[in-house]
Amino acid sequence: MSSIQKGGSAVDINKRRIINGADADVMQLYPMRHTFAWDAYLAGNANHWLPTEISMQLDIEQWKSKTALTEDERKAFETVLGFFTTADSIAANNVVMGFYKHTTSPECRMYMLRQGYEEAIHTHAYQYIVESLGMDESRIFNMYREVEAIYKKDDFVLSFNEGIFDPNFKTGTFENDQKFLENIVVFSLIMEGIFFYSSFAVMFGFQRLGKLTGSAEQIQYIMRDESQHLNFGINLINTIKNEQPELWTPEFQQHCVDLVKRAVALEYEFATTVFPKGIFGMNADGFRDYIRYIADKRLGMIGLPAQYNVENPFPWMSEAIDLNKEKNFFETRVTEYKVGGQLEW
Ligand code: FE
Repeated sequence: MSSIQKGGSAVDINKRRIINGADADVMQLYPMRHTFAWDAYLAGNANHWLPTEISMQLDIEQWKSKTALTEDERKAFETVLGFFTTADSIAANNVVMGFYKHTTSPECRMYMLRQGYEEAIHTHAYQYIVESLGMDESRIFNMYREVEAIYKKDDFVLSFNEGIFDPNFKTGTFENDQKFLENIVVFSLIMEGIFFYSSFAVMFGFQRLGKLTGSAEQIQYIMRDESQHLNFGINLINTIKNEQPELWTPEFQQHCVDLVKRAVALEYEFATTVFPKGIFGMNADGFRDYIRYIADKRLGMIGLPAQYNVENPFPWMSEAIDLNKEKNFFETRVTEYKVGGQLEW
């Protein structure tokens, strides 16, 4: 990406690539090859929201009340927030310092800018929850260093920045291109596609009981964004597989499966920290199967074989959480809410 070549000809669409575009003029949005990225950018804009638009009044009352929440519920909520508060900062950092820097597709870079902003909105949402409830900000935001199960998840993910964040790192060799692909697998498929999901489930568990519903609504908006991030990451992986099929070796595929298995073990450890005794019909065993179920679906999305073949133990969550139809879900939720209110008459 050197200086502009004066009088140079327009970019050849056939030379556009996610990485290693031979004609890597990232200033020209057209010709647009990776239209999935443009679609994601438009969808992200259409879904724009801000945390402060959501009322936290009920949550504030319940959090202050001595009786609305059990000690186990409070601890579960805090631990989940402890994970969330730093997770989106970690994701944002990788989008900007890793994905964006090395991607040669202008439309993908457009979406990554949107994605980075959405990660900031998510961190804002957690900040807003913590502030609204009068929690100790320093304690919650530092939990990723103090709570073993959060630390281990984050440490696992962050270890895949090594190399990529090196100022001398460049794509264009077999080894480095696989390293970049590995980074997307870890951050999109695992961080955004697996590590967020048991925490989402906890928040929906509260919501089903009419508890902390403002926080849960924040999380619904976050989940809608995150499912876009996940789909975008899957598209990046599958497009790179098409553009550079030599990278997708049997060894590399097995490596991706092994990474997902390590992530499933870490996520299970996290779930047992959140639910040492189990609450509202969810316990660590249920979570183990849910995590396995999600992991199989993620593997399938990049063409890798299922490893666990389990039923979804929380079928009530499949609509709420594991959706590819975010809009329908939100319309349904709003409609049901309205109908419920009218039934009072
Ligand atoms: Fe994200």
